[in-house]
Amino acid sequence: MNIYADNAATTKMSRTAVDAMLPYLDQIYGNPSSLHSVGQRANEALASARGRVAACLGCDAGEIIFTSGGSEADNQAIISAARIGERKGKKHIISTAFEHHAVLHTLNKLEKEGFEVTLLDVHENGLVTARQVEEAIREDTCLVTVMYANNEIGTIQPIGEIGAVCRAKGVLFHTDAVQAAGHLHIDVKEQNIDMLSLSAHKFHGPKGIGALYVKKGIALTNLIEGGAQERGKRAGTENIPAIMGMAAALEEACGSIDENAAKVSALRDRLIAGLSEIPHGVLNGDAVKRLPGNVNFCFEGIEGESLLLLLDDKGVCASSGSACTSGSLDPSHVLLAIGRPHEIAHGSLRLTISEETTQEEVDYLIGAVKEVVSYLRGMSPVWRDLESGKSKFVTA
Ligand SMILES: *Cc1c(COP(=O)(O)O)cnc(C)c1O
Repeated sequence: MNIYADNAATTKMSRTAVDAMLPYLDQIYGNPSSLHSVGQRANEALASARGRVAACLGCDAGEIIFTSGGSEADNQAIISAARIGERKGKKHIISTAFEHHAVLHTLNKLEKEGFEVTLLDVHENGLVTARQVEEAIREDTCLVTVMYANNEIGTIQPIGEIGAVCRAKGVLFHTDAVQAAGHLHIDVKEQNIDMLSLSAHKFHGPKGIGALYVKKGIALTNLIEGGAQERGKRAGTENIPAIMGMAAALEEACGSIDENAAKVSALRDRLIAGLSEIPHGVLNGDAVKRLPGNVNFCFEGIEGESLLLLLDDKGVCASSGSACTSGSLDPSHVLLAIGRPHEIAHGSLRLTISEETTQEEVDYLIGAVKEVVSYLRGMSPVWRDLESGKSKFVTA
């Protein structure tokens, strides 16, 4: 069996998204900035895609900027808020310890420029509270940036509550919603979100395209200088085929959020129940407030890398955490943020399923992980020491 269980890293494009792109590759190929009819047809498509993306988020078309993906949207949102703050003498930013590196590395860069960054602690269940945000806000806070749902452990943050706190305090609020868009209901007005990042390839759209929602009146800082595209805030000829693919994928996903969530979360819970039978393992992140498709476990006495390679031999595509950190031997900053000790943070496994996953596949996944975990433990000196009592188990 071949099972793709790495949908948090990227998804397969839907047929709808592929079909939406095709005409814009070889028929309606104009440059939307051109005044002639071929260009204007592309420009009409661009305007329609912008409106459709906006409708999925509950904002106006004029509040959407197309970017090259989630990373660029995160960078631009944070840098823009920092520049706005700087002009008012406000150089304090609040975020969390388990953000995506697109956020954390941008914050590091700002710290080197003299900004002060408060990273909120994440509770063991993978959640931060609006109260924590409220208590951290100061006179000089210019931005709160908290991810909507975590890409490794899938936990969903109380975004509406955090938005309300930020609005009441007059502080800009950005959320990296790359894992949430197309999977959870989003309404930027109702949730008091000022800026939001999304990326098409996380909801069955193409790679290399994303969007940044920016509430009207917030001045963006350019990351790319050049032409006047995207209201002068993001230069470069628009990638119309990808934008059309993204709009189609988002509309399709948003049209069946409840149906997909019900189906996928039932499979997720079956997978969690099956893997919970493995002794000395622990589910990472809240069991309920998590993305429909996310399962993340730590197993004691296991190396995550070996687990992945052996699962690959069994036809299972999985991940130990973020695709961005694979290749480094450091344990995941997300697992460390929720207090997992180094010993077990190394033995993590993330399985992220989609609407296309079947119950048969889930049952195969459970069997494959059980087999590989016991095989690896059988060869592991670390496991031998744990079993003989020479070292202590961290988990129950
Ligand atoms: C994938 C991801 C990103 C990066 O998006 P790209 O489009 O790949 O740049 C940012 N944040 C989160 C939470 C993600 O899952």
